Amino acid sequence: MKIGILGSGQLGAMLADAAVRLGHQVAFYDSADGAPTKRFQATTVAGFDDETALQKFAQTCDVVTYEFENIPVETVQIIEQYTPVHPAKKALAISQDRLLEKEFLQSIGIGTPRFQCASSLDELQSACQAVGFPCVIKTRRFGYDGKGQARVSEVSEVAKAWHSLQSTGLIVEGYVPFSRELSIIGTRDIHGNVVTYPLIENTHIDGILHRSEIPAPAISRELQSQTQTMIESLLHALDYVGTITMELFDVRGEILANEIAPRVHNSGHATIESLETSQFENHIRAITGMELGTPDPHARAVMYNIIGSIPEMEKLSEYTSIFPHLYDKEPRPGRKLGHITLLNPAESEEQLVKGLCRR
Ligand code: AMP
Repeated sequence: MKIGILGSGQLGAMLADAAVRLGHQVAFYDSADGAPTKRFQATTVAGFDDETALQKFAQTCDVVTYEFENIPVETVQIIEQYTPVHPAKKALAISQDRLLEKEFLQSIGIGTPRFQCASSLDELQSACQAVGFPCVIKTRRFGYDGKGQARVSEVSEVAKAWHSLQSTGLIVEGYVPFSRELSIIGTRDIHGNVVTYPLIENTHIDGILHRSEIPAPAISRELQSQTQTMIESLLHALDYVGTITMELFDVRGEILANEIAPRVHNSGHATIESLETSQFENHIRAITGMELGTPDPHARAVMYNIIGSIPEMEKLSEYTSIFPHLYDKEPRPGRKLGHITLLNPAESEEQLVKGLCRR
C-alpha cells in the first residue's frame, strides 16, 4: 500500500522505515521539508490549508496517517473525503486541547491531576486558588516538551505567569508530587484488537524527555494490568486505529494520566531494537489492515535522547548492543537530534552513553 504521512520529522522517518520493511511505499506532506525524511525523497511541501495540494496528495495514497498532533483537524477533514485517515480526527481534536483531553479521560474513568480552565487574569487567579498551590499553568493548545507552561508556588507569582504565557486559553493543574513518570503505549487494529506494550519509565530534564527504560523497573503485575486496562479503555473509547501513548504520573502507586499522544512516541523508541514488534511497525500494521505483532520484550532497554548538540560517538562502534540513531537535523539548543538505545546495558555502558548525552 502507499501510506501518506503528515509531518516529516524523525517519528515520520521511523514510521517510514517500518513501512518499507513491511513492503509498503511512503509519501510525506509537510509545510516545510523536514530533514529526517529527506532520504525518502517523497515529500509534498505545501500548507496544511492548501485544499488542492491536500486533495492531490490524498488521491495518491491508500491510507493517510500523521506523526504529530498539531495538524489542523480541518486538514484531516479534507483528506478523509478522498482516502481513509488513521487515527481518526476525534483523537486529534481531543489531544490538541488539554482541557478536552482531561475531561475526556475523566469521562472514561481515567484519573488526572486536579484542573480548572481560565481565560483572563482574574479567572486564572481564582483557578489557582481553587486548584491550590503549588500548581502548573499550561496553555490549552500547542504546548510540548514543557513549553507553554509555568509552575507557580504562591498567588504573587500568578500575574507574572499570565504575562509570560500570553494566552487566553489556559488550564491550571495541581502540581503532582510524583515518585516517577511512566508511559504506556498501545496499538488497536481496524477490527478492534489491541496490543499493549510494557510500561516505560521516563526521566525529563527541563520538560524534555532525557531517558526511558522499557520495561520499567519494579512494576507489579497489578500496576501493569491496571495501566493496560486504562490504555485499552482509551483505545476503544476513541474507536482508535494505530498506536497511541499515554503519559502517566506514578504517585506512590496511584496512577494519574498527564496527557495522551495520538501517535508513536519518543519514550517508545527502544521498541525498535528491544521488542518483537516495535511501536512503529504495529502502527503501520494497524493502519494498513495487517495483523498486529506481539510486543514481547527480548531485552531490557534504556534510551537516551541526544538534545541540542551531537556528541562524539566513535567509541560506541565497539559495542554491539548500543544503537545510535541520528535524525540529520541541524543542531539547536533544546532540539531533539537523535537518540541512543542500549540493550541489557552494563552500568559502565550506561554511564558512557549518559556522559555523551549530558546537558
Ligand atoms: P507536559 O508538556 O504536560 O508533558 O509536561 C512536561 C513535563 O512537565 C512532564 O513530563 C512533567 O515532568 C512536568 N509536569 C507537567 N505537568 C505537571 C504537573 N501537573 N505536576 C508535576 N509535574 C508536571
